[in-house]
Amino acid sequence: MSGQQQEHPIISAQKPGRNWRTFLGVLLLVAVSINGAVAIVQGNSLPPMPLAYAYVPSPNCDDRPASAEITCIVIHSTVEPTTEGTEGIFLNAAKKVSAHFVVGKDGRVVQMVPVEKRAWHAGKSMLDGVSDVNSYSIGIEMVNLNDGVDPYPPAQVEAVAGLIRLIRSRYNVPDNRVVSHAQIAQPAGRKSDPVGFDFEALLKLARTPETSTSVPTGSRPTPTTVPMPAGRHEREE
Ligand SMILES: [Zn+2]
Repeated sequence: MSGQQQEHPIISAQKPGRNWRTFLGVLLLVAVSINGAVAIVQGNSLPPMPLAYAYVPSPNCDDRPASAEITCIVIHSTVEPTTEGTEGIFLNAAKKVSAHFVVGKDGRVVQMVPVEKRAWHAGKSMLDGVSDVNSYSIGIEMVNLNDGVDPYPPAQVEAVAGLIRLIRSRYNVPDNRVVSHAQIAQPAGRKSDPVGFDFEALLKLARTPETSTSVPTGSRPTPTTVPMPAGRHEREE
């Protein structure tokens, strides 16, 4: 110890000048954090997306194998009824599940994992004889109960098509590698999602230049972590 007099924190906090500096410091920290999040989206992920209105980074991801190329898109249903609820699951490190994108019924897209990273959505899986589909795919979760009754509204399908167009601007993903989770899950029959989803219509839409301007844009409130009912979403890995 130098023997220099230490300022008592409470006394320091009562000095108006110090308060002001603390406030500025917090403001700077917040600004840096926001810039960091934007940098993640712009530097390590897809270019800014007209469809996306939020980036909510999930801890449930890791590096793809160095040799892995992105050649596949896996389409899921959340079973969870809301976008916010799905965010809550993917933000929970204990759940060990995530997807790159969550698409709400209103067509709003939330990105949760940079596409260069491996999201944890497919679990035990195989496509064309190659296992661990997570390593070479991008996962898109559509908010849907997956009961065969809950509809996939046009705004949601258009948003997924828009994501496919955007992904294809960077990666080569042919139609036959835009797959359902049910199609690749191992053992066969382990997964059913997305039940009742029209892949033909989606792929046709994805091949059509974007015409819709009805997709919601603009800012959104800060996401809240919604407590999940236990067992609503099966652990994928
Ligand atoms: Zn799934």
